[in-house]
Amino acid sequence: MRQVEALGYSKGDVRHLLLTHLDRDHAGGISDFPNAKVHVHRREYDMAVARTAPAPKGRYITDQWKHGPDWAFYGEGGEDWFGFKGVRALGDREPDILMIPLPGHTSGHCGIAVRSGDKWLLHAGDAYFFHAQMQTPPRMPLVLGMFQRRADMDRAMRIQNQERLRTLKAKHGDQVTIFNSHDPVDYERCRCGQHGDVSLTSSP
Ligand SMILES: [Zn+2]
Repeated sequence: MRQVEALGYSKGDVRHLLLTHLDRDHAGGISDFPNAKVHVHRREYDMAVARTAPAPKGRYITDQWKHGPDWAFYGEGGEDWFGFKGVRALGDREPDILMIPLPGHTSGHCGIAVRSGDKWLLHAGDAYFFHAQMQTPPRMPLVLGMFQRRADMDRAMRIQNQERLRTLKAKHGDQVTIFNSHDPVDYERCRCGQHGDVSLTSSP
């Protein structure tokens, strides 16, 4: 909420929250915006909220959505987006915002693609944790790699989706800037609208 305000908006301006997944460090702020619609993949909702699919013990904190948000659900399908499939969010007539399933870290984990001028930003959430995982060959600090494995719900899917993201960056890095939730290097690259330059200079 503070970051929204720092951009010159009030919290009431926020009408939609698009979440990559519902892990505690990604859903903790949603009660700051009780009137906003919360967009998630159906599988994420089923496991974290409806509990119709068993969730790993302690993974989700149900108090984070006890205010009863207005949910919007996404599934598979949608349209082709650089070799991925994405569903248009917010009932957009133009495909400017897409929810793109990237399962592995959680079953309903999604990336969120947003058009920025004639380019794209892809918020990859926790589909990867460290910027050099997007290089070929990928690099990952040992301890962070252990953390990543411990957080996997489906390791094979996570590895496969990381490979797809690496390919996306290699092929279309000039059009799509990919960043994740936690890496300060990715964050610094994307701040202040510098993503256009970044995608051209970040290749090894
Ligand atoms: Zn997570």
